[in-house]
Amino acid sequence: MASSSIPFNFAEWPPSLSPEQQTTLVQKATTRALATGLLYLPPGYPLESPPPQAAIHAPLSLFPAPFSRESFEFAQEIQSLYNVLYSHIAMDTEFLDEIMGAEKGVGRVDDFIGELWKGWKVLRDSNSVPQPLHLGLFRSDYLYHVPPEGEAFFKQVEFNTISRSFTGKHRPSVVIPALFKQACIRIPRHLMLSTSYFNSSPHLKLENLPKNDTIAGLAKGIAAGHAAYVSHGGSPSSKILFVVQAGERNVFDQRWLEYELLEKHSIHSIRQTFEELITSSSVDTSASSSLKITPMDSPNESIEISVVYYRAGYMPHEYPSQEYYSTRFKLESSRAIKCPTIPLQLAGGKKVQEVLGRKGLVERFLPGVPQSQVDRLRKTFMDMWGLDEDSPGAVGDVTSTSTTDSASPSPSAPPPTSSESFGTQRARAEHATLVLKPQREGGGNNVYKSDIPAFLDGLPAHEREAWIAMRLIEVPQGLGGWLVRAGSLDYGGSSDKSRAERAVKAEVVSELGIFGWALFGAGKVQGEEEVGWLVRTKGKDSNEGGVATGFSVLDSVLLV
Ligand code: ADP
Ligand code: MG
Ligand code: MG
Repeated sequence: MASSSIPFNFAEWPPSLSPEQQTTLVQKATTRALATGLLYLPPGYPLESPPPQAAIHAPLSLFPAPFSRESFEFAQEIQSLYNVLYSHIAMDTEFLDEIMGAEKGVGRVDDFIGELWKGWKVLRDSNSVPQPLHLGLFRSDYLYHVPPEGEAFFKQVEFNTISRSFTGKHRPSVVIPALFKQACIRIPRHLMLSTSYFNSSPHLKLENLPKNDTIAGLAKGIAAGHAAYVSHGGSPSSKILFVVQAGERNVFDQRWLEYELLEKHSIHSIRQTFEELITSSSVDTSASSSLKITPMDSPNESIEISVVYYRAGYMPHEYPSQEYYSTRFKLESSRAIKCPTIPLQLAGGKKVQEVLGRKGLVERFLPGVPQSQVDRLRKTFMDMWGLDEDSPGAVGDVTSTSTTDSASPSPSAPPPTSSESFGTQRARAEHATLVLKPQREGGGNNVYKSDIPAFLDGLPAHEREAWIAMRLIEVPQGLGGWLVRAGSLDYGGSSDKSRAERAVKAEVVSELGIFGWALFGAGKVQGEEEVGWLVRTKGKDSNEGGVATGFSVLDSVLLV
């Protein structure tokens, strides 16, 4: 494309605007967002709600986020490999037992992981997993890594195997929906068409905005699961079950998926919370093991479920009592296809991501894939290790195959003379360039840089196993953006002064998520696809490399 020859300087982004031009763009962008349906229910919207009557636009970015065309296309290309890789991990029971299990792995020290694994083990041992197929809707997250020397490249932050939703309990201001798809590109498209961004940059051209079709693609994945269920004797009138969180504000994004399933695939959906499912769900004790749900509004009906799509259930607080776990296991024991199954959810653990860096492991899960392809995938890995690792041998194998990772020195921690494991000592010594992560999803769980030594002082030795250390990705310095959020109106009309500033210029970090789906089981991947992308941009806090502060916004891609 023509503009790829125009040099791009991250530190000079975004282009400058006059205050009047900026006001015009904010006006147009927010109006377009409302018209497009890039919406949330307002904060304070009553949880036991009447039918919705108002919405606010999602927080958004005024300028699209610049990424190199080559890197972006690379991230899209390798998604299929990632789909296949995680499918094979989820089918490798022995591996998951070893890494995530409650007898040998992380599940020994992480109660939540342990509970999920134990429930799955009981089902396996009693031959109560009648459905061999798993459905994965994946999102592989990347940050653009610009080391002082060497090639700039996308590095993987994490690989998500369960879709998260808006979560009210954990730093709601930084949690952004998982989908929200192609609507995001309407904003820069509209600003280009209507204003050409006041000709503020030669890069701001329509041809530099990549297409996005996430909702259609993910719906296709769910529809593939539904079709497989029906073709194996399930009822053609079976429906998709969306397992959702109570009091969710991010409903529109999920609804789009529901509408797409209905309008394009003629598949009906039903939404229920875990709490509702405790009493509304049952599994046929006959050989069929069908999952049946009683809708809240139709107590005499019993609906057969083809696919269980979890938009909830990835955090411990969502299982406040054993009944909730039992409900999850009940659903798992049915013939409905789960998205994800428990093993697929476990496969998405940060510990698995770390272990994949060890020599030979990617190859184990991608048999028959040419080494050159495996090497491409490994290029996205950042150096990681477990805090419990007790020898340098186990550490840092990734760096031996990653030529771009100049930020990763060879293991340099002092020899393990104290009772501290080598992995922990190394994290102490190299804390300035690290983030520590537990086996959690949903944001707000990590420990960064200078907070690491004190955190390690307080971490009981046996809990080290549940934590991994990861080298911080060195995002472009000086990259700015305009972050725009809905103003101060609460649902009740009360105003919140801290939200008065609607458009904020800030130094930012943009995280790219590439979506994919896979339907697999019994050792084989039956279908998979790369289906689109999402960009979330956050204000950058100088104390915490890359971690979110303030609020994050929906963004889109500008290929440069
Ligand atoms: P979660 O599953 O809770 O989303 P993540 O691994 O995505 O956990 O971490 C949360 C955030 O922390 C990311 O969105 C990113 O902003 C930041 N982060 C995580 N890992 C790194 C890293 N290696 N380098 C820089 N920032 C990171
Ligand atoms: Mg994340
Ligand atoms: Mg995650």
